Amino acid sequence: MSTPSTAWHERAAGLRLDGRAVINGQRVAAVDGQTFAKHSPIDSRFLTQVARGQAADVDAAVMAARAAFDDRRWAGKAPAVRKKILQRFADKILAAKEELALLETLDMGKPIQYSLSVDVPAAARCIAWYAEAVDKVYDEIAPTPDTALALITREPMGVIGAIVPWNYPMIMAAWKLGPALAAGNSVVLKPSEKSPLTACRLAELAVEAGIPPGVFNVVPGFGHEAGEALALHLQVDAIGFTGSTRVGRRMLDYAGRSNLKRVYNELGGKSAFVVFEDYADLPRAARTLAGSMFFNQGESCNAPSRVLVQASVAEEFTALLAAEAPKYAPGDPLHPATELGALVDETQLRTVMGYIESGLSEGARCLTGGRQARTETGGFYVEPTVFAAATPQMRITREEIFGPVTAVIAFETEAQAIALANDSSYGLQASVWSDQLNRAHRVARALRAGTVHVNQYDEDDITVPFGGYKQSGNGRDKSLHAFDKYTELKTTWIRLD
Ligand code: NAD
Repeated sequence: MSTPSTAWHERAAGLRLDGRAVINGQRVAAVDGQTFAKHSPIDSRFLTQVARGQAADVDAAVMAARAAFDDRRWAGKAPAVRKKILQRFADKILAAKEELALLETLDMGKPIQYSLSVDVPAAARCIAWYAEAVDKVYDEIAPTPDTALALITREPMGVIGAIVPWNYPMIMAAWKLGPALAAGNSVVLKPSEKSPLTACRLAELAVEAGIPPGVFNVVPGFGHEAGEALALHLQVDAIGFTGSTRVGRRMLDYAGRSNLKRVYNELGGKSAFVVFEDYADLPRAARTLAGSMFFNQGESCNAPSRVLVQASVAEEFTALLAAEAPKYAPGDPLHPATELGALVDETQLRTVMGYIESGLSEGARCLTGGRQARTETGGFYVEPTVFAAATPQMRITREEIFGPVTAVIAFETEAQAIALANDSSYGLQASVWSDQLNRAHRVARALRAGTVHVNQYDEDDITVPFGGYKQSGNGRDKSLHAFDKYTELKTTWIRLD
């Protein structure tokens, strides 16, 4: 009989896995037949062979997307019609909830309870939200003299290349697909080679929902092969990229070397979590920090991995945080109670362990965690780790670790806190914890980040923009602002006699 801990393993054994691309509404192998083996980070089990897309596959997908855009089979439909079809797509995602959640967990190691309660519903809500918005967004008429009429309209841009990472594979794809498809574009999605399975399944569900063939294509493969071919393609009008700052730089270069396609980068972060001594509920701040930091194994672009605490409460706060961390002990991602799953692969494990070693050798104090865990499984697990007595020069406080590791730096004054928080090449998110109204507003204004949280960290909704200042990127995903990325603004002058 199934127990809660075996039920998902049994379902996993019976799951249909298909790593082929989806081009023009059809499942297809790579043109040259090449594949790569996908293993699960949970226990290194073999999952399936995945199509290794290269330039020829990308070209086939882009030309299918271009044909679909040019004959207006999608862009030409009334917004209300696109709305209905996209709502059906969102419903199909929800109906396939357990299958998609299981694929996501097997592919990249996050706990099944969160794939079910966060990733699948958030992806569906994103698609549904843009569907619902698209027949409610009006264009403009400029205040011109009587002799003319000037219409300011938004038109779909054409073919969008979406290149996404492995940490929230479905949600990151949905943040591109929602606004791009609702606005009438065609899309070629290149998922990460570390998490390709849900993307391919989403494209099948889209076709079942009635999105015409060619409008939404998926080419799995490696970044330097399929990703580069997509970003260089002359028939791609814009790239919606989410990933590392290192690769984001390349996206700008690819655009410069090809057709100056628009590039919207959503990149890395090293978000500051600033706690002042006047904030009364330190246990709450510590609980929130641990929850946000260790969610998704710390593999979140907005993880609050730079903790700045006023010196007078630093010891107390750090002890509270260190007591929270062990509640996120790594466990079997397919067990429904597990809070912290596996890191995505061995490379990521080595990177995270390397940062832990550098924290120790640079003189930070490891209060809890710091070790690899569950090695007997063959998977890639790291204990939630808290460093104290860190300094702003250390690698663990400057570089994005992308694992369950956070570090506390003490500060004396408000001005020093602001300077330290802003002393980063990143600017994705930040938070300020203070019970003084003036201070909270003052510091929130001074922080150079795309999102600033006050006395909380975990609020998030499709209704608000998400993106960064500085080297955290330029575009904004989510909210109506995301339509700006996937539409061209046209002015039409009409003479009035
Ligand atoms: P990555 O940059 O290594 O890869 C991202 C995508 O780019 C993958 O699909 C990959 O195959 C592709 N790619 C890699 N090299 C390429 C190349 N030379 N040409 C074209 N494509 C290439 O990032 P990752 O390790 O998958 O993801 C982690 C990063 O993503 C972190 O830095 C994280 O902060 C960032 N991220 C940012 C946000 C955000 O909204 N700002 C959200 C999630 C993740």
